[in-house]
Amino acid sequence: MANNMEYDYLIVGAGFFGSVCARELTDSGKKCLVIDRRSHLGGNCYTSNKGGIHVHEFGCHIFHTSNEELWAYVNRFAEFNNFKYHGVARVDNEFYSLPFNMWTFQQVYGSRNPVEAREAIRNHGEGIEEPRNLEEQAIMMVGRPVYEKLIKWYTEKQWGRPATELPKEIIQRLPIRFTFDSNYFNDVYQGIPIGGYTSIFDKLLSGVEVKTSVDYKANKAFFDGVAKHTIYTGAIDEFFDYKYGELEYKTTRFFHKMMDTRDAQGAAVINYPSRDVEYTRIIEHKHFDWVETDFTILTQEYPERYVAGKTEPYYPVNDAQNNAKYLLYKELADGLHNMSFGGRLAEYKYYDMDDVIGSALNFVKTLK
Ligand code: FAD
Repeated sequence: MANNMEYDYLIVGAGFFGSVCARELTDSGKKCLVIDRRSHLGGNCYTSNKGGIHVHEFGCHIFHTSNEELWAYVNRFAEFNNFKYHGVARVDNEFYSLPFNMWTFQQVYGSRNPVEAREAIRNHGEGIEEPRNLEEQAIMMVGRPVYEKLIKWYTEKQWGRPATELPKEIIQRLPIRFTFDSNYFNDVYQGIPIGGYTSIFDKLLSGVEVKTSVDYKANKAFFDGVAKHTIYTGAIDEFFDYKYGELEYKTTRFFHKMMDTRDAQGAAVINYPSRDVEYTRIIEHKHFDWVETDFTILTQEYPERYVAGKTEPYYPVNDAQNNAKYLLYKELADGLHNMSFGGRLAEYKYYDMDDVIGSALNFVKTLK
């Protein structure tokens, strides 16, 4: 495949971090080789094309940012539609609006205006002022009836732990609005790339040598000899053979199914917060980037226990124990020469897409 040190950079991982690095370094005259152990580009942002419907194979991805420069950057590689995510939760045969807004408070408490909504929350807030865990935080923020109906079981299914044992910070990030506005994200720029995410990666990596279905770890001795510098975007604990133990992740099993109907649920995402429904949500992909077909593709998401090397790591569990373990790995990584670590797996950090693109752009500036 390559002679010794044929490349300036070996980039392990064709997700956003690796692909943005490859684009920028190639444009500045460096010779890059990108490898990914998966058979496709894009990491978890990968979308497949099934009869014209762009299927978000690893969880739905909605691009949102308030950073004008990043928005301009990503628009070099895709045209975005104006999709906005308005959440819906289904409990038995009742539907509720998410994130928590006046529609939700009207549906649960019958509130007709923000004064009534705030009063209902106070009345159902059980006098909590200094919450100690996620359950207490949620009751304080939206009252027990909203918590019981829309938060408790969803969260416990998602995290596999009682809400009383989860940190309150998880729920603090959720927007709560006292207006009839159900737009999930507050960001100025929002949308879905027309034609799916994969076409962004085709453009980011155009003119760059890329090998898919190639595992760096399995061929480490070889790959360590092909480039002057390696940028690694895989899992940091795996890189060091789990020397300090495994870092924990939340993971999900995606069950895709086709239905012979034009439109099955009338929304891109419906959440299922009930205890007796095993999955957490159903995605109907054609609503992200509408295409007229007489069939549709749905994905049910089932939370699963993560097993390193066997299931895909999705969301890092950034509690004190895991963060401390990550710092031990980071110290080892910092001691290596001609080797850099970046992206969500290598930095053990939850990144939205705009953040990871920004992080890669900042990182390459340190190399050029
Ligand atoms: P990745 O995309 O994971 O890329 C890392 C790549 O490295 C992978 O392709 C992997 O196969 C490869 N790799 C690992 N080890 C090796 C090895 N040994 N050899 C070769 N290759 C290797 N962000 C948003 O902004 N909006 C959303 O709506 C959103 N939804 C999300 C939903 C889910 C379910 C998940 C998990 C994330 C979501 N994100 C969302 C976050 C988004 O996916 C990340 O910001 C982005 O994918 C991070 O890119 P990355 O390059 O760091 O990692």
